[in-house]
Amino acid sequence: MSVIKMTDIDLSGKRVLIREDLNVPVADGKVTSDARIRAALPTIEAAIAANAAVMLVSHLGRPTEGQPEDKFSLQPVADHLGELLGREVPLVKDWIDGVDVEPGNVVLLENVRFLAGEKKCDDALAKKMASLCDVFVMDAFGTAHRAQASTYGVAEYAPVACAGPLLAAELEALAKALDNPARPFVAIVGGSKVSTKLNVLDTLANIVDTLIVGGGIANTFIAAAGHEVGKSLYEADMVGTAGKLAATADDRAEIPVPDDVVVADEFSADANAATKSVGEVGVDDMILDIGPDTADRFGKILAEAGTIIWNGPVGVFEFDKFGEGTRVLSEAIAASSAFSVAGGGDTLAAIDKYGVREKISYISTGGGAFLEFVEGKKLPAVAMLEKRAKD
Ligand code: ADP
Ligand code: MG
Repeated sequence: MSVIKMTDIDLSGKRVLIREDLNVPVADGKVTSDARIRAALPTIEAAIAANAAVMLVSHLGRPTEGQPEDKFSLQPVADHLGELLGREVPLVKDWIDGVDVEPGNVVLLENVRFLAGEKKCDDALAKKMASLCDVFVMDAFGTAHRAQASTYGVAEYAPVACAGPLLAAELEALAKALDNPARPFVAIVGGSKVSTKLNVLDTLANIVDTLIVGGGIANTFIAAAGHEVGKSLYEADMVGTAGKLAATADDRAEIPVPDDVVVADEFSADANAATKSVGEVGVDDMILDIGPDTADRFGKILAEAGTIIWNGPVGVFEFDKFGEGTRVLSEAIAASSAFSVAGGGDTLAAIDKYGVREKISYISTGGGAFLEFVEGKKLPAVAMLEKRAKD
């Protein structure tokens, strides 16, 4: 990887725009899992210590562009970051036309996804962002797979564009884990972003020995096996794809489909929960977790693994009744002697909920980016930094 690194540049007195991934879960105006903020801290502290005028830019959630909404404000992140840094971090609401910040100080710019053109990487928007700074630092591994104005476009036009310490460290650590994985190599892909994650399964099936599916992805495989999934989250359009993946050839990963599941009568923390075999799921059921037998079976696979990568909880772990599958698997990963890598916002929240953080070998801040990296894809934001390093 030949990119300029932030640590190689003299930042003193410079206006430095740092793209971080501060997309953390927020409830009632408070940050509920601060892993991504903590991961970004060393970069932010280093830039302040170097006497840069620091502007932090990030997204939060999925607001409609051009329509700022309080529930997607980064204010809770500014408050939390201020506590961690021991200094006030002002949130700048209208920033695209200019930002006041002195060297040695830091401000957080309001949710970049409030700006029209961010997602489609509008050229004019990217140029405006670039004109705010002398140096652009890309440090958000979690968004490096997206070519957007604040991850890619701005890097094209900023006077200097470089990789932040967190991004550089993530790229190095993941490459190290994947270059020569100890086998069996097991991946767990769960969660709710079914359509995006189903696409990576095909590639993963060629890399790993066993591919454990959970969450909405597992439901799609259960449907592909001909079972009723009732009101469960799943991807009707992808049932055919899932069916083809499940019919594994010898040279591809095995994809064990759950044989028991926990169903609910509604999507809530105090829904009635029942364990059923996959053949018994009814039209009104909602599958919210893998069942205990399946969790046991998957746990044994993890116990024998040499390398484990994990993205996505296997159930709605936020509701205790539907968190058992995720708890059992997280404990199996923790107990396994495998080299384990986990990534994804909600995956990290689950890791904290079940207290296994110290027992996972490497925690990535990326979810989708993490999976694409594992697939061997060139991350667009990284490609742009490489291009700029050649200027
Ligand atoms: P990550 O952030 O780790 O990449 P995702 O965002 O894809 O993971 O998915 C996490 C979410 O998936 C959690 O909020 C969890 O409640 C939800 N989820 C897991 N299993 C199910 C399921 N069976 N039905 C609906 N939602 C699910
Ligand atoms: Mg998520």
